[in-house]
Amino acid sequence: NDASFDVPAHPDEYDWSRHYPAFYARQGTDGASEHISVPVEAQPSNVPASVQTQQPEVKFVDVGCGFGGLLVKLAPLYPDTLMLGMELRDKVSEYVRERILALREQSSPQYSNIACLRTNAQKYLIHYFRKGQLTKLFFLFPDPHFKAGTHRRRIISRAQLADYAYLLAPGGILYTITDVPELGQWMREKADAHPLFVRMSDEELAADLAACLLDKATEEGQKVARNSGLTLRSVYRRIEAPASL
Ligand code: SAM
Repeated sequence: NDASFDVPAHPDEYDWSRHYPAFYARQGTDGASEHISVPVEAQPSNVPASVQTQQPEVKFVDVGCGFGGLLVKLAPLYPDTLMLGMELRDKVSEYVRERILALREQSSPQYSNIACLRTNAQKYLIHYFRKGQLTKLFFLFPDPHFKAGTHRRRIISRAQLADYAYLLAPGGILYTITDVPELGQWMREKADAHPLFVRMSDEELAADLAACLLDKATEEGQKVARNSGLTLRSVYRRIEAPASL
């Protein structure tokens, strides 16, 4: 029921400090990232808003994060980066929140940079983040929606890719992996056709920490690996828009 989602009308309205309390407290006390409120109109347009306001902000998003395995693996690798899992299922997102709280208790100050939000990412992603805010977007083992009539519900589509290109900073990376060949082909076809995404080569991916985690970090990935299933990984860099676009 979407009515139970706490969806902000605009990204600036959302209070992220409740998801990352220790991180925000730390930023506040060392003075490094205290919020300096600069009216948007007064900000020079060529400086990213993150630099202008120095607010800690979410940079990585795991869409349909399931039980949160990827976030848990990424948290210590990028301790200064805020990451968010978005998950539609109420119980599953609650499980992830509890999992993160337990990890924070055991290993403080680690894991203060990850959080999970229950929401319909397909509908509301764009409400939470500003243009160019994100540097990594993950789609690990998304639901296949096999029937032709439900293809529009696939999380990688032409329309959704326009949103992902909007939210990702140039140079940002969109990661996908699936064990469903038909879906793998579909995601590749859609992203290959998009003018703002360029598929990364295996050589580039070998040097990318996150890309190396895609197949086994999550619960779904581990299940596929146990069953010796094949996976197709397709990863794209968000490029600068050519002047003609
Ligand atoms: N990425 C996880 C993994 O690799 O273990 C979960 C994979 S599971 C097959 C797909 C997940 O996407 C499910 O947990 C489902 O609830 C979630 N999901 C599906 N549609 C969604 C949406 N519109 N917004 C957020 N989550 C969604």
